[in-house]
Order: sequence, then C-alpha cells, then structure tokens
Amino acid sequence: SGRLEGKVALISGGASGLGEAQALLYAREGARVMIGDLQEVLGASVVARIRGEGGEAAFTRLDVTELASWQAAVALSVATYGKLTTLVNNAGIFHPGGIIDESPEGWAKMVAVNQTGVFYGMKAGAPELVKAGTGSAIVNISSLYGLIGSPGAISYHASKAAVRVMGKGAALEFVKQGVRVNTIFPGQIRTPILGDITPEQDAAIKASIPMGIVGDPMDVAHASLFLASDEARYITGAELWVDGGWYAG
Ligand code: NAD
Repeated sequence: SGRLEGKVALISGGASGLGEAQALLYAREGARVMIGDLQEVLGASVVARIRGEGGEAAFTRLDVTELASWQAAVALSVATYGKLTTLVNNAGIFHPGGIIDESPEGWAKMVAVNQTGVFYGMKAGAPELVKAGTGSAIVNISSLYGLIGSPGAISYHASKAAVRVMGKGAALEFVKQGVRVNTIFPGQIRTPILGDITPEQDAAIKASIPMGIVGDPMDVAHASLFLASDEARYITGAELWVDGGWYAG
C-alpha cells in the first residue's frame, strides 16, 4: 500500500508546476487529493490524469488571498473525503523588482498571495488537522530565496522568508496536537513560474547550481511526500532545501 494511504490532502496551486507534481505523487501513494487553484481548466486536467491512473482527486477553485475561499476549500475536502489530514501551502507567484523598481501594488500583491495565503491556509486548515490528530501534517513551500540574501525581487524574497518563520511557529503551536509542520525550499526547478527565459539566462542559472542542472518538479514532490508521510513522524519545524547543492555552496 502507498506511503500516504489514509491521508486526505489539500494542495494549493495544484494545477501547475510543483503543485501538480505533488498532487500526482500524493495520489499515486494513496492519498485522496483536493486541488485548490485559480486555474480551473488546468486543475481539471490534473484531476483527470490522477483518475486515469486510478487515483482519487477533485478540484475546487481556491483564491489563497481570501480566508473565506480557504474555509470553503477545507469544508469541501472534509465533505468529500471525510477529513483533512494534510495541507500543502504551495500556491505562489513571482515577479522581479528591487527596492527601487518594486511598486507598492506589486509588493501588496506578492505578500497577499505568498505570505497571507500561507497564513490563511494554516488558519483555515489547522482546526481540521488538529481534529485528525497524529498523522496530520502541513508542508509549506518557501524558496531558497527565503534563506539567502539576493537582489532584484524584494517582495518575493520577503514573502518567502515569512513562510519560513511561520512554519517554525506553526510547528511549535501545534506540536502537542499531533500536527507536524515542515518547510521545503526549492532552488531552481523547471516550471511555468519563471515565464520565458532566454538561453543566456538558462545558462546562467545552470552555472550557479553546483549540480549544473535545474531540478524537476518531481524532485520537490518526493521531498514533500516524505514530509507528509508518517515516515517523518519525528520531524517538525524542519527545513529541507531541494536545490542541487546551491545552498551548500
Ligand atoms: P507555477 O506558476 O507553475 O504554479 C503556481 C500555481 O499557483 C499556479 O497554478 C497558480 O495558478 C497558483 N496560484 C497563483 N496565485 C494563486 C492564488 N491567489 N490562489 C490560488 N492559486 C494561485 O509555479 P511553481 O514553480 O510550481 O510554484 C509553486 C511554488 O513553488 C510557489 O510557491 C513558488 O514560489 C515556489 N518555488 C518555485 C521555484 C521554482 O524554481 N519553480 C523555486 C522556489 C520556490
């Protein structure tokens, strides 16, 4: 039987990229998966693929910047699958902009999705995870840029650093109730989030990674699977970077 047998997972941003990979892998390992995303067509196609593989999944439109939207997604997960054991705060956006270039609107949008979105996810999901008790877990997706200093995307970096500390605080807040909370810090993974990049930018990215290659979404999904599974039952408040050696260097 699968490594997530008996789990019910709500995955934000599950229609694309890292969220899609986590949804597919979680379902292959026996979890029942609720995909929450703004992208309904893509979300439905991920659900169809999971069902085609014999897995169980459903889609709900979720805007992580709205607490009521999160509460509805949590309620639907429980109504559909009977409980919620696992929450993956994966949805996120990126845009560049240093301190001089970033606008107040750009800042506010970034914080609303990447930071407030994770807070609201945990706020809406925690009561059900606590109810499910031991065996339940939250996996938050930060970024290696939440750990290091770097210029050129001030709001993204700040929002991802906030995800890091919220994860540590949540781990301690829920530790007595059996809910584990861990954070993944992806390095450079090939997904749509970066948009179109030039061959020169691609070469520069690869040159900055000790392994010399960008990661695959499944590299992050496998780390997430482990942290969500009972194999990680003694791990909470941890930080796992998935980055081809970038942070080590
Ligand atoms: P992606 O763009 O492929 O997927 C992000 C998903 O989030 C999309 O499906 C999008 O519709 C959804 N989303 C955006 N705003 C939303 C909202 N308000 N409500 C609900 N859903 C929303 O990007 P990805 O690379 O798969 O990113 C997933 C996470 O991984 C993000 O938090 C990102 O910051 C993080 N990350 C990615 C990388 C990388 O190299 N790809 C590196 C570090 C961190």
